[in-house]
Amino acid sequence: MAYDQSNIFARILRGEADAHVVLDEERCLAFMDVMPQSPGHTLVIPREPAADLFELGAASVAPLALAVQRVARAVRAAFEPPGLMVAQLNGQAAGQSVFHIHFHVIPRWPQREGGQPLAMHGRALADPKELAAHAARIREALAAESP
Ligand code: AMP
Repeated sequence: MAYDQSNIFARILRGEADAHVVLDEERCLAFMDVMPQSPGHTLVIPREPAADLFELGAASVAPLALAVQRVARAVRAAFEPPGLMVAQLNGQAAGQSVFHIHFHVIPRWPQREGGQPLAMHGRALADPKELAAHAARIREALAAESP
């Protein structure tokens, strides 16, 4: 698939669109999902312009996996969910809606313990103030784990 430079994540990477950034590295960026499936839902993307897993160059794979792990640890430390889901969708048929590869880091709480059912993927915009507060919690957790 031809990479579309006008997709929203490409615009965020170029600084043309805003994002609640939690991690800003040479090869990767992580920011809050604006339509979170649960509180703390964060996206991790490579800077490389790749639409999906199949286009991603070998040089991006390890830095991206490490960034996903770092962000997942920080989200777990910040929100203390009993579970955490990492998801990555390829192609419209799989539910992909933004064609710049990204990993979803989604905290999960069991419903029987009062947790919310997982919200539908990409449906309701969250309050920007809440997203900013969540991003600050995750950045704090990342800073605490850095050497
Ligand atoms: P996917 O369907 O796997 O391609 O996921 C795309 C995700 O991007 C969805 O969860 C959307 O809520 C999220 N999203 C769309 N636009 C933005 C944006 N401007 N900033 C942050 N997240 C976004």
